[in-house]
Amino acid sequence: MSVLNQKTLKKAVKFEGVGLHTGKKASVTILPSNPNTGIIFKRIDFEKNNIVLPNVYNVSNATLCTTITNEYGVSVSTIEHLMGALYGLGIDNALIEINSQEVPIMDGSAKIFVEKFLEIGFELSEAPIKLIKIMNKVSLEDGSKYICIDRSNVSLDVDFEIKYSNPLIGNQKNKINVYENNLSDIYNSRTFCLYEDVENLRKMGLAKGGSLNNAVVVKDNEVLNPEGLRNELEFVNHKILDCMGDLCLSGHKIVGRLVCSQGGHKLTNQLLRKVFSDNHNFSIFELKEKNIPHSFINKTALKSIA
Ligand SMILES: [Zn+2]
Repeated sequence: MSVLNQKTLKKAVKFEGVGLHTGKKASVTILPSNPNTGIIFKRIDFEKNNIVLPNVYNVSNATLCTTITNEYGVSVSTIEHLMGALYGLGIDNALIEINSQEVPIMDGSAKIFVEKFLEIGFELSEAPIKLIKIMNKVSLEDGSKYICIDRSNVSLDVDFEIKYSNPLIGNQKNKINVYENNLSDIYNSRTFCLYEDVENLRKMGLAKGGSLNNAVVVKDNEVLNPEGLRNELEFVNHKILDCMGDLCLSGHKIVGRLVCSQGGHKLTNQLLRKVFSDNHNFSIFELKEKNIPHSFINKTALKSIA
């Protein structure tokens, strides 16, 4: 069977924990699903109108986390780390049942999701994967924030930069190839915030479930978590994880080169909306061995996509 076929999990897996922002307990079960069904969220605490599709146009709020909402007003929030895990591992199809509004934050990264998915293993289907190939450069600016995506041959590159006035975070930059690099550091990197922002977040009714067990908190030159950082570039690496999770809302594997400075959920979503607003910006095709385009003739690189 071709490695270019669509993938799902071998069996169902359940995670439990609290939501970072709501502070509410939630359990989420990721079930295997049929080819060409994509990733689907189902709010099992509702009897009807409970399907919420993680697509670019269903993003209803992208401040601090990514929230998706269906046409009946039913939402799922903080989907980005789970989605980042699915995207990085190339899981094309999954039904995600959740009994509350917010996906549990776990340890603040995608580590726990990824480890469990790898332990369970994957089931390959007969259906070929689909790719979104970026054809034209699309860019966006918002003050000092910038994001663009351009064409690439077979890879999805994410080149990300953050600039903080906090001396410990400072300027960090990293670049990854999603289909070829070892992404352990990306998956393991936790969400973070500044100590002085915690009180404000709480006043806004956010971060109610936040603690040193699920977020890195930085005060001046110090990381308040006793265990310290997990890797040298943990801050920018977490932003790359967020970005991968938000790119997963495109529905397919993207072939392109993304560059972002100081962006986040909102900018990534705006970029995807701009890409899909014009058919000349992209093309979608099934990657069957027999219809591989000229730009995909490097078979070894192809394997890394699947
Ligand atoms: Zn995040």
